[in-house]
Amino acid sequence: MSSTSLPADFLPAHLWTELLFTGTWEAGAVAATAVLEPATGNLLGHIGNADAGQVAASAKAASAAQSAWYQQPYDERSAVLRKAAQVAEHHFDTIVDWLVRESGSTRAKAAFETTLSIKVLHESAGLPSRSQGEVLPSTSGRLSLARRRPLGVVGVISPFNFPLYLAIRAVAPALATGNAVVLKPDPRTAVCGGFVIARLFELAGLPAGLLHVLPGGAEAGAALTSDPHVAMIQFTGSTGAGRKVGEAAGRHLKKVSLELGGKNSLIVLDDADLDLALANAAWGVYLHQGQICMSTGRLLVQRGIYQRFLERLVAKAKRLTVGDPATANVDLGPLINAQQRDHAHRVVQAAQQAGAKLDAGGGYEGLFFEPTVLSDVTRDNPAFNEEIFAPVAVVVPFDTDEEAIALANDTEYGLSAAVLSRDVGRALKLGERLRVGLLHINDQTVNDEVINPFGGVGASGNGASIGGPANWEEFTQWQWLTVKSDAPAYPL
Ligand code: NAD
Repeated sequence: MSSTSLPADFLPAHLWTELLFTGTWEAGAVAATAVLEPATGNLLGHIGNADAGQVAASAKAASAAQSAWYQQPYDERSAVLRKAAQVAEHHFDTIVDWLVRESGSTRAKAAFETTLSIKVLHESAGLPSRSQGEVLPSTSGRLSLARRRPLGVVGVISPFNFPLYLAIRAVAPALATGNAVVLKPDPRTAVCGGFVIARLFELAGLPAGLLHVLPGGAEAGAALTSDPHVAMIQFTGSTGAGRKVGEAAGRHLKKVSLELGGKNSLIVLDDADLDLALANAAWGVYLHQGQICMSTGRLLVQRGIYQRFLERLVAKAKRLTVGDPATANVDLGPLINAQQRDHAHRVVQAAQQAGAKLDAGGGYEGLFFEPTVLSDVTRDNPAFNEEIFAPVAVVVPFDTDEEAIALANDTEYGLSAAVLSRDVGRALKLGERLRVGLLHINDQTVNDEVINPFGGVGASGNGASIGGPANWEEFTQWQWLTVKSDAPAYPL
């Protein structure tokens, strides 16, 4: 990585070649990738692309280092996680700066993401001291235990949108439960999604060889998924890539956790407080430019308040400010790259051709996409069905609660849903019938508190498989252990 104008105390140049990083980090390295600032197009640096050979070498080294780490006293593993949290707290502002510059986050989103990531480290520090199994009933004279053991090497593949949090939410609990980790961040956000994490753990005193950070694209991800030293893949990303990862993991008999895309409904019932409904809708749709797996992809609004809701949403969308979050206090920053922008633009145009009304936005300048409102969207419209991953409100009217349930469930995804109503009983009754992994009554769809299980069903992944109580299950496996004072005299 070459020098940047950003503070270097936390990410100093000597690290580009440190042992902790088995990837090639130096500027001018073979197949180096440019790290670009989406808001300006400026070059922040260069980062190496790991190839299949580097993935194999890292996985092998991680496997060799894992056993000694697991044998360490539990409180020593806890101490490393706690120290990593302290280092992150100390360098909070630098991390936030990087998130703003590298991923186009607003400062508020970047601060929220950093806070969540620190919380993950603190929570993970508590994992090693938890009970690790149970005593089973057995025959007389035999001690029979069911105990949880680490898997070995966990491969983590992470996306660009919450690059730090979506990587560290797997890296930290996997290490805490005694595993080694090979992390492959998205190459567009390899500093926040990889380099920062490696640096936190290096400064926290994590023994060498346990965490390998290998920036790279699909090829490096595919190599990780098929490597014989890797026992599990924790993947967060698109459903398309997730299917490939799931197939490969199945073929190579690896455990796999898939956190994929979503088309999440926020249902606004006709008795909802209109001001609060608008605030929730705008947050769910426009936060981080709509680039969140839990973003509100459909606003289902009951007919009685539909027109008033729509008019005020359009006015709100037109008021939102868009610009470079590094230099101005804006509501929305840029999309991550031209590919994402062109995808969003295509869907908005196709939606209009299919009969939706464009009430606000729809255009873009560079990577800055206007806060957009599409209304009167019907079930056969591409905007109703596709994950847009951009600041586009898709507003759909409905008449009855039954119809709202049918509309919300009309998707292959099943990540998050939310219902707004003054009648909590009615909202809960409706919510019970939504096929999702995350359900919120009187809130919007974008929520994560770290200590909750997180995940979706259907094309959103294989269940609430990560976070909070799910972590111990996820990153360890059962072993049955029996002990007798003497071996039995079997009759053969
Ligand atoms: P993506 O699938 O293109 O990339 C995600 C990661 O997978 C990157 O590191 C990428 O390099 C890697 N990858 C791509 N193809 C691969 C392959 N064949 N084998 C192994 N690795 C491969 O995702 P994206 O489009 O950049 O990210 C946005 C998507 O991620 C959206 O669909 C969003 O909903 C989803 N997402 C889900 C969650 C969740 O927790 N459910 C969180 C954030 C984002």
